[in-house]
Amino acid sequence: MKHIIPFVLVLILSYSPSQTDISDIEVQIFAKTKREHKTKELLIAFLKKYDLTPYLFTRIIIIKSRVLSHSHPVLTINTKHNDDPDRLLSVFLHEQIHWFAFERKRYTFFAIREFKKIYPNIPVGHPEGARTEYSSYLHLVVCYLQLQALKRYLGEKRAYSIIETNDHYKWIYSTVIKDEKKIESILRKYNLLIEKNYLKAKSQLLSFTLTTCNLASISKLDKPISGSTWRPTTTHNLIHTVVHLLD
Ligand SMILES: [Zn+2]
Repeated sequence: MKHIIPFVLVLILSYSPSQTDISDIEVQIFAKTKREHKTKELLIAFLKKYDLTPYLFTRIIIIKSRVLSHSHPVLTINTKHNDDPDRLLSVFLHEQIHWFAFERKRYTFFAIREFKKIYPNIPVGHPEGARTEYSSYLHLVVCYLQLQALKRYLGEKRAYSIIETNDHYKWIYSTVIKDEKKIESILRKYNLLIEKNYLKAKSQLLSFTLTTCNLASISKLDKPISGSTWRPTTTHNLIHTVVHLLD
C-alpha cells in the first residue's frame, strides 16, 4: 500500500483544475424559451471555462425569465444578462454566496452585529439598500464575497467595473469597495472568507489522506453517505464535502 501514498499526495497537491466538474450540476430551464436556453448555454460555458467549485453551495439551478434572480428555495437566475455574460456570472456567484451565508448563519449573524455598530444608519430599499434593514446588513457580507469571487475569475479591473455599475444595492456595493479591508477583517474574524475555507478544506483532505494512508478511504466516500442524498463522486466534491464539514 505504501507506494500508493506518494501517488495520492501528488494527485491532491497538483489538483488545480481549470474547469468545474459539472457531472452533478443540474441546470433546469423553466419554460424552455430561446432566452432561457441561451442563459443556460452561457452559464454552462462559465462552468467549463473556470473552476467555480469554491463557490458552488447548491447544485440545482433554474433558469427562468421575468423573475428576480434569487437564491432560495432553489437558486433561480433570470435571463436579463444574456447580452452581458460577465454580469450573469456575477449574479450566479451572488446567489450561490447566499447559500454559503445561510449555511453559516450563526457567524453571519455575528458579522452583522459588528456591521450594525459601524453603519448604524444603513439604507433600506431600492436603489441604495436591500428590502429590509437585516437584508441590507446581510448584503454587506454577500456583496463583499461576490467582489472577491469576481476578482478571482474576471480580474480586478472587470470585477470593480461590474460592482460599481450595478443598478441596485448601490450604497452596499460602494461601501464594499470603499471599506473593503475593514469588511474583510470582520469576515476573517468569523471565518466567512470562502477561499480561505476552501484552502483549509483542501489541506484537511490532505491530512486526512496522510493519516488514513490508503485510497480505499477515499473510494468509500464515492458511495452515498449513509442517511444523506449527498454523493461526492469526485475529488472536487470530496473537497467540497470537507468544506461543509468544517463549519
Ligand atoms: Zn442578494
